Amino acid sequence: MNEIEIPHKAQRIIDLLEAAGFEAFVVGGCVRDAIMGRTPNDWDITTSARPAQIEQVMAGAGLVTLATGVKYGTVTVRVDHESFETTTFRADGSYSDGRHPDSVELLEHIDGDLARRDFTVNAMAYNPKTGIVDLHGGQDDLSRRVLRAVGDPHTRFDEDALRILRGMRFSSVLGFAIEPETAAAMRADRCLLERVSAERIWAELAKLLCGPDAVRILREYRDVIAVLIPELEPEFGFDQHNPFHAYDVWEHTLHALAAAKPDAPAPMRLGLLLHDIGKPHCLTIDENGRGHMYGHEKVGEPIARGVCRRLKLSRAATDEVASIVRWHMFTIPDTPKSMRRFLLKHGPDLAQELFAVRRCDKVGLGREQPEDSPLNVAFAKAEALMEEQLNAAPVFGVRDLAVGGADLMELGFSQGPRLGQVLRRLLEAVVDGEVANERQPLLDYARRLLD
Ligand code: ATP
Ligand code: MG
Repeated sequence: MNEIEIPHKAQRIIDLLEAAGFEAFVVGGCVRDAIMGRTPNDWDITTSARPAQIEQVMAGAGLVTLATGVKYGTVTVRVDHESFETTTFRADGSYSDGRHPDSVELLEHIDGDLARRDFTVNAMAYNPKTGIVDLHGGQDDLSRRVLRAVGDPHTRFDEDALRILRGMRFSSVLGFAIEPETAAAMRADRCLLERVSAERIWAELAKLLCGPDAVRILREYRDVIAVLIPELEPEFGFDQHNPFHAYDVWEHTLHALAAAKPDAPAPMRLGLLLHDIGKPHCLTIDENGRGHMYGHEKVGEPIARGVCRRLKLSRAATDEVASIVRWHMFTIPDTPKSMRRFLLKHGPDLAQELFAVRRCDKVGLGREQPEDSPLNVAFAKAEALMEEQLNAAPVFGVRDLAVGGADLMELGFSQGPRLGQVLRRLLEAVVDGEVANERQPLLDYARRLLD
């Protein structure tokens, strides 16, 4: 395979740079993905032109540029509302602050630029005139589906330890094996990850968790994961002393994660990874020798929040993860009324996610349950109930009520906290089916609450 189809817009940038006497190539992940027949996320361009020269050439053709990373040699070129990162050939110094290279050196030739890249499959460039530039055996590794560090892995991980996690991420997403020397260095150098910024870690970890091979990687590299999330370590080999569980807590967690649907988002996967994080702190053994972890979801929630805070997840993602941990033991609603309450308590999105989590948690028991087992029957019934309630005109918050604060004030309620309480009462009455979500019945109901 020697030809890659480059999108016209990227080709246009290459043509413009070449016409001005510079070299230019598409490079990195897009070359890897194109050879594999995958659709690249983005097409990055590498060139001998300096940032000011890139800007000048593009301006000459009427294209807008954004100075997104001039310090690192990067200019973003806009072609018809699409962005292309165009970066001067460069060598990176170390990432001693774990965030940015200390210094970058702009280069005249592409060799040094390819040598700074993390894995051989990511270290290829291409343009139609030259064909594939592959100085590190990337094509061989790609065809054998192997990830291999460019150069000496220890040196490369010492320069930027994030590469350790990127290797795991690519292995998870692409299903590639990690070459043994690279893998050994990833394990041996794992503590270097402590100096990498949380933002960079979470960006890679999120992708790792969403890869089809995430569970294999988590299992094989749990000691590396434990550097990022030491809270998981007590789960490794932790015996549940319970015949309902085939696995220790960590293996149970992995089996639960393996049951997640392919489109499950990263916070839900992190929630699954952390759902039993409280268990090792809650074991009691009853008189029959059976283990229980009462309250582990309550103990687990603050631990999970701590993990999210350290990884600097967004507020919304943190709440999602923490809610999964806190509520994964929910009582399965068995009537329309209890289902409405469940939906009201969690909101429709989280409620549906909790059901998905519970399904995974069930699979993770590792004990085949017949379809007519009480748990499976209750679960199937609850899923049908949820479907039904979500399809019926749903009321999930006071804003969905047919009356508002102004209506209540007309009735004689005064502004203040009491108003919110009354709205909440109305909401509960609607959810419980005591009153229809219509203006007059609600006003009549509210009038009775006037004191
Ligand atoms: P994705 O498909 O997720 O975009 P990618 O391979 O394009 O994967 P990016 O993070 O977009 O990954 O980086 C683009 C390219 O830059 C990589 O293919 C690699 O050549 C190089 N690169 C990125 N991060 C590093 C790093 N930390 N160390 C060395 N090279 C890196
Ligand atoms: Mg990319």
